[in-house]
Amino acid sequence: MDKDDWSFGESWRVEPSDPTWTGTQTAIKEQRVEEWDDETLVLGIETSCDETSASVVRGGRDILSNVIASQTELHGEYGGIVPEVAARAHVEALTPAIREALVRADATFWDLDAVAVTLGPGLIGSLLVGVAEAKAIASVLDIPFVGVNHLEAHIYSNFLGNYSAKWPAVVLVISGGHTMLVHARGHGDYEILGGTLDDAAGEAFDKVARFLGLDYPGGPEIDRLSLLGNPDAVRFPRSMVGEPGFDVSYSGLKTSVTNYVRRLEYEGNEINVADVAASFQQAVVDIEVAKTLAAVDHTMVDTLFLCGGVAANSGLRTGLEKACLDRSITLHVPPIELCTDNAAMVASCGTALLRRGIYTSLDAAPDPNLPLK
Ligand code: ADP
Ligand code: MG
Repeated sequence: MDKDDWSFGESWRVEPSDPTWTGTQTAIKEQRVEEWDDETLVLGIETSCDETSASVVRGGRDILSNVIASQTELHGEYGGIVPEVAARAHVEALTPAIREALVRADATFWDLDAVAVTLGPGLIGSLLVGVAEAKAIASVLDIPFVGVNHLEAHIYSNFLGNYSAKWPAVVLVISGGHTMLVHARGHGDYEILGGTLDDAAGEAFDKVARFLGLDYPGGPEIDRLSLLGNPDAVRFPRSMVGEPGFDVSYSGLKTSVTNYVRRLEYEGNEINVADVAASFQQAVVDIEVAKTLAAVDHTMVDTLFLCGGVAANSGLRTGLEKACLDRSITLHVPPIELCTDNAAMVASCGTALLRRGIYTSLDAAPDPNLPLK
C-alpha cells in the first residue's frame, strides 16, 4: 500500500498546544473505518520489560516475522530483572532484531505502512529505547507512529493468526506485571472488572519459585515441577474466592507457602518441592478459574480470551479449558510464544488503532504507568 493511499479516513493529531493534550496522548480523533485491512504492513517493537522484540504483521493478523531476543539469562544471575541491565541490552539487541524481522518477513523499511511500539506500562529505561527507535524510523520514512498500550497489546495476541476470535469477550490478562479481568466489548472499548490487590500472578510464581530455590523465571519452573508433584498434597488458601467482585490477592498464598516450608524445615521434615509447587500452582489455578467464570457470568458473554506470560501455564490452560467446555464458553488461548512479551501483538494492536484513525504524536513520551482505558 502506498502511504499516500491511506484509506483509514480523516484523522488528525492533538498537538501539545491543544488544551486536551495529556502528554502521552495517542488518540487523535476516532473515526471508525473497516476493522482490518488485509494489506497494511506494520512493524511492531516491544521493549517494555526484558524481551527485545520486533515483528512484521500484515493486516493486523498475519505474522510475517516475530523476532524475540530474551534477556532471561542476563537477569537470571540476579534472580530478577535489573532495569539498567535491561535497558542496555535493549540498546544492543533492538536494531539487529528489527533487521532480522524485516529479512524474515521478506520486507524492506519502504514496504512498511506504520511503526507501532509499546508506549507503556513498563520500565522507563526499556520503554525509551523502543520508543526512540520507533520514532526515528517513522520520522525518516514519514509513516505513522503508533504508541500502543502493552496490556491492550496482550489482548490482541488472541487475534494473531486466529480469525475465529471475536468481541465481545472477557479477557484474563495474567503476566509478571499484571493480573486483571477485562470486559472487552470491542476495539478500544474496555472495562476493567477487577485485578490483583497486591502481587501479579506471575510475580507470585517467580517469588515462590525463588523461595523454593528454583531458577529464574520461576513460573515455567513451577509449571514443570508441578507435573511431578501432587496438587492436593497441601491445601493452600484460595483468598477472596468466596467473595463478590473480581479482585484477587496473592500475598496470603505466598505467605502460606513460606510458612509451610519453614515449619517443615523447623520440624526437621523433608520438603517435597514438587508437591509444594503443584499445590501452589493449583491454588492459583483455582482462584483464577473461579474469578474468571464469575466475570463471564456477570458480563453474559460467551467468549474468553487468555493472555500474558502466565497464560503459558499448563495448569491454568487445562483448568480453563475444562471449565469452559462444561459451560459452552469459547476459549481462545494464544500459542505460548505469543503469551509472553512479543512485538507481533504490538503490531496487531497498532494496526487496529490505525484502522480507527488513531496514531500518535512524535512528541508523546513513554509512560511507565500507562493505564488500560
Ligand atoms: P510482563 O509483561 O509482565 O513482564 P510477561 O507477559 O512477559 O510479563 O510474562 C512473564 C511472566 O510469566 C513471568 O512472571 C513468568 O514467570 C510467567 N510465566 C511464564 N511461563 C509461565 C508458566 N508456564 N507458568 C507460570 N508462569 C509463567
Ligand atoms: Mg507482558
